[in-house]
Amino acid sequence: MKDNERSSGSLHFRVEQLADGVYAAIHKDGGGAISNAGIVDLGNRILVFDTFLTPQAARDLKAAAEALTMKPVVLVVNSHCHNDHIWGNQVFKVQADILSTVATAEAIVSDGPGKYEWYRENTPQQLVELQASYDAAGDPRERSELSLWIAYYQHLTAAINELEVVPPNKTFDSRTAINGTARTAELIEYRKGHSSSDAILYLPQDSIVFMGDLLFIDSHPYLGDGDPDTLIENLREIQRIGAKIFVPGHGPVGAAADLPVLVEYVIACQEIVRGMIRGGIGKDAVDAVDVPERFASWQQVGFFRSNLRFLYGRLSEIPRD
Ligand SMILES: [Zn+2]
Repeated sequence: MKDNERSSGSLHFRVEQLADGVYAAIHKDGGGAISNAGIVDLGNRILVFDTFLTPQAARDLKAAAEALTMKPVVLVVNSHCHNDHIWGNQVFKVQADILSTVATAEAIVSDGPGKYEWYRENTPQQLVELQASYDAAGDPRERSELSLWIAYYQHLTAAINELEVVPPNKTFDSRTAINGTARTAELIEYRKGHSSSDAILYLPQDSIVFMGDLLFIDSHPYLGDGDPDTLIENLREIQRIGAKIFVPGHGPVGAAADLPVLVEYVIACQEIVRGMIRGGIGKDAVDAVDVPERFASWQQVGFFRSNLRFLYGRLSEIPRD
C-alpha cells in the first residue's frame, strides 16, 4: 500500500488521498466499480465525481466519502454518459443533486433505457461465452483479460434487478464553477473526444484534474464512441491548464506526462491503419496486428483491436467535399 493510500474496505476500489480533502477511488481488478471516481470536500459540501458501474460499488463509494469527510454527499457529477460511470447514480439520488452537461443528460435519457435492456437480456449469455473462452484460454495474459470481463458481467448480474438508470437532475453547458468554503471545483466540457460530451473536474488550488474517460492510463482506451482527432486536441488543450495530478477514467493516478502518451497511442493506431489501407490490406487483418511495444503492457487489449477496426472504418471513408 502506498503512503497516501487508505483502505476503503471495499472489494470494488481502493482510495488514494491526493490532497487534504481530495481522494481518488481507483477500481480494483475483479470488483464492480470498473471505472474510477473522485471524492472532493468543498468545505461546506461533498462532491462525488462519477458513480461506477454498479449500485453495490456505489454504496461503498458513498460510505467511503462519508467516512472520510464526516459529511453527506450532496452533489454528484457524471463525467459522461457511459454506463460504467453512471449506473451507481441511484445510490445518491435521494440526498444529492446529480449534475452533468446538457448533452450527457440528453444521452442518458435517450439511450439509457435501451442500454439497460440490452444488458438485462444479454448479460447471462455474455457470461457463459466469456467463461467458455476463459476455460479454453491457455495464455495467462488472455485469461487475466477475460477475468476482468467475467467480473464485469458477474457484478452486473448481481445488480441487474435493482438497477435503475437515473439521469442527472441538474445540467450545465460548456463550463461551470462550484464554489465551496474550502475550494472551488471547475467543470469543463469537451465535446466528441471520447463520447458526445465529456466533462473534466479541475481543482485549481490543488492542481488536480479528474479526467473521466478523456484519459486512460496503462489501459487501452475505448475510441469507438468519439472522434480521435478531437480527442488529441482535447488532451493537448487540457495539458495547457498546467495541472500536476491527473486521475484517469481507467487506470492508476497519473501526471501531466500521461496525456501525451495517450496522444501518441491514438496517432500510432491511426498510422497502423493508414499503412494497412495504403497496402490494400483488409479490415479483418487488424486481428493479427501486434500491439506496439510502447503499449504492450496495457490492460484491455481487446479495445486495441476494436479501436483499429473503428479507425479503419473512419479512415477508409471516401472524403466528401
Ligand atoms: Zn467512457
